[in-house]
Amino acid sequence: MDISAYHKIKSELPDNCRLIAVSKTKPASDIAVLYEHGQRDFAENKVQELKEKYEKLPKDIKWHFIGHLQTNKIKYIAPFISLIHSIDSLSLLKEVDKMAKKSGRIIPCLLQFHIAQETTKFGFTWEEAEKMLASDEFSALKNVKIVGVMGMGTHTEDTEQTRKEFHQLRQYFLRLKDTRFARQPDFRELSMGMTDDYPIAVQEQSTMVRIGSAIFGNRIYPDKTK
Ligand SMILES: *Cc1c(COP(=O)(O)O)cnc(C)c1O
Repeated sequence: MDISAYHKIKSELPDNCRLIAVSKTKPASDIAVLYEHGQRDFAENKVQELKEKYEKLPKDIKWHFIGHLQTNKIKYIAPFISLIHSIDSLSLLKEVDKMAKKSGRIIPCLLQFHIAQETTKFGFTWEEAEKMLASDEFSALKNVKIVGVMGMGTHTEDTEQTRKEFHQLRQYFLRLKDTRFARQPDFRELSMGMTDDYPIAVQEQSTMVRIGSAIFGNRIYPDKTK
């Protein structure tokens, strides 16, 4: 864990860009240290892990969900989740809406767009998102609120490729903001940028960078070959 890197990154971000600390795989004790330094926004990508950390840690933490969300697990995070970054289908959004209603909440969500070259990354194409947003089924959802968009760039050394992708995501964001969400001031989040590419994301007007390894160190995953 690198507290000085944390403070350096934070001090270099523009005022309108929030740092989301990606704490996946890291122990609650690491989160507690960062919390002591004033960090309140943390992101996880596994429901079970997120729920356990939520139960252990201070209740004024804002928890973000950034991974592939299985519909049967939404109920565990619906009562407290602050923002879901990874909405990639109408059926998922409908399930989130259902669970939000049960919790008596309106859950803020981002639409995840597929902007990378890799096919392994999730997300809407522009056409899919347009179609969903125009549908009556979408209009009927009252317990979710779309507050912006999210995307992951290609894992590459080619900074111009990354810049092009973030630029594209911002165009999607602006088109939605000016058309579908023109009368909704809460539609304002552009979640893009990770450890390796956040400086480019910031130049391309990101409002939320999701940074893990630069702060917490490299993640160690259990060796599945054993
Ligand atoms: C893991 C993850 C991050 C953080 O990645 P780092 O490279 O460690 O900063 C950001 N966004 C998503 C969606 C992730 O899964």
